[in-house]
Amino acid sequence: MAVTASPLLPGAWLGLLGGGQLGRMFAHAAQRLGYRVLVLAPDNDNPAGRVADEFLCADYADPTALGELARRVGAVTTEFENVPAPALEFLAQHVPVRPGAAALAIAQDRLEEKRFFTASGIRVAPHAAIASETDIAAFDAGLLPGILKTTRLGYDGKGQIRVATRADVAAAFRQLDGVPCVLEQQLALSCELSVLVARATDGSIVSYPPTENEHRGGILAVSLLPARIDEEIAAAARRAALALAQRMAYTGVLCLEFFLLQDGALVANEMAPRPHNSGHATIEACSTSQFEQQARVLASLPLGDATLLAPAVTLNVLGDLWFREAGTGAAIDAPGAGPRWSDVLAVPGAKMHLYGKNEARRGRKMGHVTCLGANLEQALERARRVCAALGIEPPQTAPVGAIALHDLRRAARTADSA
Ligand code: ATP
Ligand code: MG
Repeated sequence: MAVTASPLLPGAWLGLLGGGQLGRMFAHAAQRLGYRVLVLAPDNDNPAGRVADEFLCADYADPTALGELARRVGAVTTEFENVPAPALEFLAQHVPVRPGAAALAIAQDRLEEKRFFTASGIRVAPHAAIASETDIAAFDAGLLPGILKTTRLGYDGKGQIRVATRADVAAAFRQLDGVPCVLEQQLALSCELSVLVARATDGSIVSYPPTENEHRGGILAVSLLPARIDEEIAAAARRAALALAQRMAYTGVLCLEFFLLQDGALVANEMAPRPHNSGHATIEACSTSQFEQQARVLASLPLGDATLLAPAVTLNVLGDLWFREAGTGAAIDAPGAGPRWSDVLAVPGAKMHLYGKNEARRGRKMGHVTCLGANLEQALERARRVCAALGIEPPQTAPVGAIALHDLRRAARTADSA
């Protein structure tokens, strides 16, 4: 049921659980609207805590710290889905928590998530729950080759192992310490997409155009906004994300990740109950960023419009780049000074974001660069120049299959109207 909450006015305090870069960008957006941000996170050196108006260094289960947070802020949000449920339940007794514990509980568990997608009429990859030796003996061999994923706590491809045989599944299950897993059939992807939606307490809702995402080594590397896909597929992906948010009476920003198969079918992969790495381009490319939407929902303000102002390509900057000598690119053992930022900033339309992390580690997200263009081709051309400056692979070429479908449909329409 729609609830009309009275807005928290600028100057009020907003609370955030989590100290990562998503929290940092949320704090920036909330502060720009005039709010003050109180961050609670367990470690002293974190990107969000550093820019917050105040930072409480405490464990998420610390009752004193949670009590203080609840007393001092008008509403609480989170920047990662694995917040312990008791912390959210405690906070929710005292202060609005957006999104609520129920949505996080679904997103914390891959099997729950798949059940929920299926119940909402959204297709998922063929899969089986693997929680015991019996399950390993019994699953349908049609799921191979597949990917064994832990049902909980996975991110950036961690907690996943590719498997080709039943014996591989048994070995992978042991390697994952026998925790509950899901075995997913490995699908032939045309490309990966994601759709962001924001839903407010009064039930109003907006969706963003899908982004096209390229992963490398299980970690998001490149996002194109908008995705190079057929309009009908884009519309179907947006409808699915909107339907999910409505069905949960979700409050906040939600991202739904999809696989687009080579036959044109859309399959939901997972959802994130928060702003998402693939949506960083919304900061510069859309009228309202995903982080501003999060702040607006939290403060019970009207949603912003999600119009795309300029096509954009976002490149993730990983800690690996600090393990190379600037100029020569030669590998070094200890992290050095990192990329030559002046070469990146010299590219027109390139917007650099660094998250202020003290220590560069391989695979760690240190920042991102969004390249804007008058059209996607120009944004891509600029992104290629930034990739050359950073010494990373340029974005892959257009998706296979789907783009052909797109061209076929367009050709058919042109032929019809001729
Ligand atoms: P993150 O939380 O960073 O998005 P994750 O660790 O939760 O990632 P997934 O999104 O499930 O993991 O998978 C990571 C990547 O592995 C996907 O983006 C995709 O490239 C590939 N992948 C996962 N499942 C499948 C599948 N069933 N078929 C083909 N590729 C897959
Ligand atoms: Mg994912």
